[in-house]
Amino acid sequence: MKRRNLLAGGLAVIGGATLFKDLFAQRPGPAAPDAASVKTAIEQSKGAAPKVEKLTLKPEEWRKRLTPAQFDVLRNDGTERPWTSPLNGEKRKGMFHCAGCDHVLFSSEMKYESGTGWPSFFTTMPGAFEKSTDFKLIYPRTEYHCAKCGGHHGHVFNDGPSPTGQRWCNNGVALVFKPTA
Ligand SMILES: [Zn+2]
Repeated sequence: MKRRNLLAGGLAVIGGATLFKDLFAQRPGPAAPDAASVKTAIEQSKGAAPKVEKLTLKPEEWRKRLTPAQFDVLRNDGTERPWTSPLNGEKRKGMFHCAGCDHVLFSSEMKYESGTGWPSFFTTMPGAFEKSTDFKLIYPRTEYHCAKCGGHHGHVFNDGPSPTGQRWCNNGVALVFKPTA
């Protein structure tokens, strides 16, 4: 009996290790942004905020404009599965825009590898977002949404890299990346 349990336990460990390896294959761990990017990003974040003209559409109009996955995140406060966005690995120079309204949200210099499976940024472009507190989980979280169309993008946390200490955890499906080169 004891031996059988040991064997079962051993197999479970091997099975778990295989699953663990599979889950974390090709998944980078957290990495601090480089100094040059930080310098550029901080300068960009302190620029003048653009004048924002609000975009208000009816749900059916949003449904026509967005894919079902974009609609779920932007208009329904959904969360995409981690490690599913191609933008996780996006390393080119350029700008990240709102998929709902094209508002400019982040520069490529603001992006860093948080190891969470969602595109993450340590600051934002001026006037990009507005914030609110949500209580969907037991603890309150700071939700942020596009200042132009009100579309939900993600949550901001205080465990980001220096100098801001911010981690803007963004659903990749809510973003459109436009490379500058
Ligand atoms: Zn927007």
